[in-house]
Amino acid sequence: MRLTTFLILLALLTYSCTKKKPVLEVDIAIKNGQVYDGISESPHSFTVGIEADKIVFFGAEEIIDIKAKTVIDASGKAVVPGFIDPHTHTTQDLNDSVARHNLPFLTQGVTTVINGNDGRSPIPVGRAMKLWGLSGAGTNVGVLVGHGHVRRAAMGMENRPPTSEEMQEMREIVTKAMEDGALGMSTGLYYTPGNYASTEEVIELSKIVSEYGGVYDTHQRDESSYSIGLMNSIKEVIRIGAEADIPVHISHIKALGVDVWGKGTEMVALIDSAKSAGIDITANQYPYVASGTSVGGSTFPNWARAGGQEEMIKRIDDEVVGLTIRQEMRDNLRRRGGPSSLLITRSGNPDWIGLTLEDLSQEWRLEPIEAALKIIKAGDASVASFNMTEEDIAILMAQPWCMTGSDGSAGHPRKYGTFPRKFRKYVIEDSVISFGRAVVASSGQVAETFNIKNRGQIKEGYFADIVVMDPTTIRDNSTFEKPEQFASGIDYVLVNGEVAIEEGRYTGTLAGKILKRE
Ligand SMILES: [Zn+2]
Repeated sequence: MRLTTFLILLALLTYSCTKKKPVLEVDIAIKNGQVYDGISESPHSFTVGIEADKIVFFGAEEIIDIKAKTVIDASGKAVVPGFIDPHTHTTQDLNDSVARHNLPFLTQGVTTVINGNDGRSPIPVGRAMKLWGLSGAGTNVGVLVGHGHVRRAAMGMENRPPTSEEMQEMREIVTKAMEDGALGMSTGLYYTPGNYASTEEVIELSKIVSEYGGVYDTHQRDESSYSIGLMNSIKEVIRIGAEADIPVHISHIKALGVDVWGKGTEMVALIDSAKSAGIDITANQYPYVASGTSVGGSTFPNWARAGGQEEMIKRIDDEVVGLTIRQEMRDNLRRRGGPSSLLITRSGNPDWIGLTLEDLSQEWRLEPIEAALKIIKAGDASVASFNMTEEDIAILMAQPWCMTGSDGSAGHPRKYGTFPRKFRKYVIEDSVISFGRAVVASSGQVAETFNIKNRGQIKEGYFADIVVMDPTTIRDNSTFEKPEQFASGIDYVLVNGEVAIEEGRYTGTLAGKILKRE
């Protein structure tokens, strides 16, 4: 019998005999808040009772009294499940004694991060998971095995199909990762060496992931008009879902660049038709018009990277090949919106930060492409690439299959601001979606999509990953100029029943667990 059912029966019995409410004693009770359970979009005026790392009570205190060692008064606040961020770049952070606290995420109300996205994960995944489990983390962590790094481990940066031995090695690495508890496999088919892989190669490896009940997550091959085009790229995702019989998830879905602006509706129609044909397809999105990449990543042709940095520089300096590279770069820059649309946010040379590629090309009296090549040769620089429209963002955000994902990476405000920004700008200011929908898209739905058991909802028996937030003052404070500003409006964050944020301040706890696929 469920605990509540039992308690209610007990309460009714006691009440009818004695007219006195029975008492349930817990460690922490969150009272007087509007509680969103992470699945339904409307709130309940319920109390949440927490004992050790679990939620043991969720209901009204009409026939039972909840007594707690610690009471959190959530009057005027929203109580929501801790957010689950399906796309982060935290593998390096977790190896660092300070960054492993995951404060940029905790302060947004994120209690679980998934990493290993974009085809990039530690190999072997199991070893990293074990290390992170030992050293501790501020949030829970789920890991995807990254196809690009699997491929690199098996065959280097070669631009060709794998031999049968190499394919076998990739199969073995993916199998081992799934055995070790990876939630699924990610690809970065836009990036080297992922872009050297055929659809068939990806399908073959995805079949293994499917056997283990894992998910396919992708930075798809083309978000713009670089190679096969945005719409064909979505068709490739759908084909992988169909042929590998696997749930597919498009990370940071967007229409990138002038050639595809306004395609939001068409993207939705294609995805909806795949859904009606039985494909389990979903997406996540960050709420910014700029993506985070590098000067090279946004302009330099990927084919010219084969073989590594030295080979690449040889090609740039080659009279014939260099000309082709420059022609392609010119077109890539046009697609992105020109040199003024690339803002340098991080670089080995601090003088470049805050300047656009246009600024630098004027300063150096170089054509924008030559300025870009100078930066790439010097080891490249991170940029915010302003390449999306608010209209497409809103159309995609409003879809029931579109969740929240930060793609949090250094140098972009999304690492510190994604979740609060979605509430502040798209719920409160622009009314693109409701508050309840934003909660579901950031918690329960993500847990379901990535098969994370007993999290993402406020429900008895679930882990106590819980956020108390102010639904009116929540806001992002990170900007492109100052990306590392913590968000505000998050009062309490509980991770596995431990208070990590208390009245807006970090307590220093490392309560996160490494989540293994069950
Ligand atoms: Zn990506």
